[in-house]
Amino acid sequence: MRFAFVLGLFALLGVSCEPSSAEKAEDGFLIVCTTGILADAVGHMTESCEVAALMGPGTDPHLFRPSRKSLQLLERADIIIANGLRLEGRMQEVLEKTSLRKPVVFASAGLYKGSLITADDRDRTADPHFWTDVSMWKGACEHILSTLEKAEVPCVNRPAAEDYLSRLELLHEEIAEITGEIPPRKRVLITPHDAFSYYGRAYGLEVITLQGISTAAEYGVRDIRDVVQLITDREIPAVFDESSIAPRAMDAVTAGCESRGYRLKRGGTLYSDALGGAGSGAETYIDMMYSNATTIKSALK
Ligand SMILES: [Zn+2]
Repeated sequence: MRFAFVLGLFALLGVSCEPSSAEKAEDGFLIVCTTGILADAVGHMTESCEVAALMGPGTDPHLFRPSRKSLQLLERADIIIANGLRLEGRMQEVLEKTSLRKPVVFASAGLYKGSLITADDRDRTADPHFWTDVSMWKGACEHILSTLEKAEVPCVNRPAAEDYLSRLELLHEEIAEITGEIPPRKRVLITPHDAFSYYGRAYGLEVITLQGISTAAEYGVRDIRDVVQLITDREIPAVFDESSIAPRAMDAVTAGCESRGYRLKRGGTLYSDALGGAGSGAETYIDMMYSNATTIKSALK
């Protein structure tokens, strides 16, 4: 079986600062997700629950620190869904503390360990961006669904969830088809931070980045020089921006190429760690995956 159904850390009992049952009945059952990508999935698998995301469009999860409002939402939550694998790097302590009082489910706990990509760093850190491979995201969604059911969350909608999972299965094939139209020698994806390793593995693209798997680490002048050299040597037509990251690193790469007389295209903005805002065409996970695939194909083809 590909995905182990491991329960996340589960709470013992609520404490005094939990809302009273009367307040809860009025408010309904509240599922709080760390990222908008998770909230989108949970929204498709439940009905008549309140589903909230701590991180909105364009928010960088690696750097996100919960505001007072976020902490209040976590306090009000009946169950919390997080990505895990240290994506929510600066929320680690809050999530650990909260898990002593209420269920915290980590989507990544449902993934087969052997499917995880590890970074080249000393600690062999697991890459948390598994949602960029739709088949892995489907596995994480299955884990969330089974955990919600085991926890007897009242608003799980099994038929809707199964529809959504089938939709993801189809999406995986569609993304492979779209990216499959890029000629093999042009399949090089250059992005600011290392969010697309699973994408590259699943859909056959070489991935080159300026930063590692967390945006908390700085990139250096040398990295930029290396990337400029590689682009000009291999005549790579385009590089990409990410919606949750400032464009300055790619500005430096573009300027570096220009100074060598090489005209580098900005291929467009990819949605890596956050959904797009209203009107972006990437407001849901499925749309975000389409948007990324068509942006990449158009720029590299
Ligand atoms: Zn990231």
